[in-house]
Amino acid sequence: MTPLAAPVVWRCKNEHVLGHVSLIDGVRRLLVYRNADCPDDVSVVLTGLGVVKCSACKRRRTWHAGQDALEELLALRKERRALTDNRDS
Ligand SMILES: [Zn+2]
Repeated sequence: MTPLAAPVVWRCKNEHVLGHVSLIDGVRRLLVYRNADCPDDVSVVLTGLGVVKCSACKRRRTWHAGQDALEELLALRKERRALTDNRDS
């Protein structure tokens, strides 16, 4: 199974889904939703670097293709840790 077989959702700090990461033509791209949590309406597709503002809570999050790959790994580790450690986050 390849890491990007399924779309990877990209959230703001308040867990609103801002978009998802997709591998298109071998390049990681962030498909940004016009409105948070509404995947049917993609407003912009980012590659490389960009800043996305959450339409729900107005928080900004920086998209960086290389850093995203790293964060994805860290998030996976965090999820696994959460499974064994049930503190409230
Ligand atoms: Zn938000």
